[in-house]
Amino acid sequence: MSTLEIRGLQVSVKLPEGDLKPILAGVDLTVRAGETHAIMGPNGSGKSTLAYSIAGHPRYEVTGGTVTLDGEDVLAMSVDERARAGLFLAMQYPVEVPGVSVANFLRTAKTAIDGEAPKLRTWVGELKSSMEKLQMDPAFAQRNVNEGFSGGEKKRHEIVQMELLKPKIAILDETDSGLDIDALRVVSGGISRVREAGDTGLLLITHYTRILRYVKPDFVHVFVGGKIVEEGGSELADKLEDEGYERYLAGAGPAK
Ligand code: ADP
Ligand code: MG
Ligand code: MG
Repeated sequence: MSTLEIRGLQVSVKLPEGDLKPILAGVDLTVRAGETHAIMGPNGSGKSTLAYSIAGHPRYEVTGGTVTLDGEDVLAMSVDERARAGLFLAMQYPVEVPGVSVANFLRTAKTAIDGEAPKLRTWVGELKSSMEKLQMDPAFAQRNVNEGFSGGEKKRHEIVQMELLKPKIAILDETDSGLDIDALRVVSGGISRVREAGDTGLLLITHYTRILRYVKPDFVHVFVGGKIVEEGGSELADKLEDEGYERYLAGAGPAK
């Protein structure tokens, strides 16, 4: 069973002038395969910074702490190595990949991660089945990655990636934002399938509770001012829905 361990993680964002702005103020979190965690917090609390740091985005500088996957030092890995090690990050703002079709992109990613190309017949079947379950038009596979994708198409594409790549740990940053209620249900269904397969540890980052009605987290972590300020089970999400984040903000001072 895979385990992602984050210990005392401190991260600063590199500003254009070269200064460092501290964002993460010591994050401790353990995510095991088969578990579903939700990180919930107000805007600007550093949730995306946490996701980008784990993914190895160059704009973020780790100034303290450790991140390991099954004991291996994630922070010492390149972005590609992190993906090959089994980490998956669905970006809050996915990038366009001009001239590369969804089908080719997915197959290339799968090949890079597994170290060999997937068997064509199995692969085509898996892709087709995953797209069907997400209620995607088969023609979508021939479109260029993220070019002119609607919000809902981007999110579905992320979930197809996750289903096919079968990561050890998947971090979904605001996968629920911008989805209408039907798309949310379809996308949540995809997340639930990955969850039920039991091989992936899920870290769902959100500031709404609505996705958590479809995918019930085992653990909820409240994130304010660059750190986790409270932890609990799924009942904590219900409490946040009623009470909001005000209580934490009053205690911790304003979010950055
Ligand atoms: P969240 O995802 O919780 O909304 P973020 O991680 O996106 O929070 O941002 C945390 C803080 O870091 C915010 O105050 C944000 O303005 C700041 N920040 C993030 N990226 C940059 C950047 N590139 N330049 C300056 N500030 C940034
Ligand atoms: Mg934000
Ligand atoms: Mg964010």
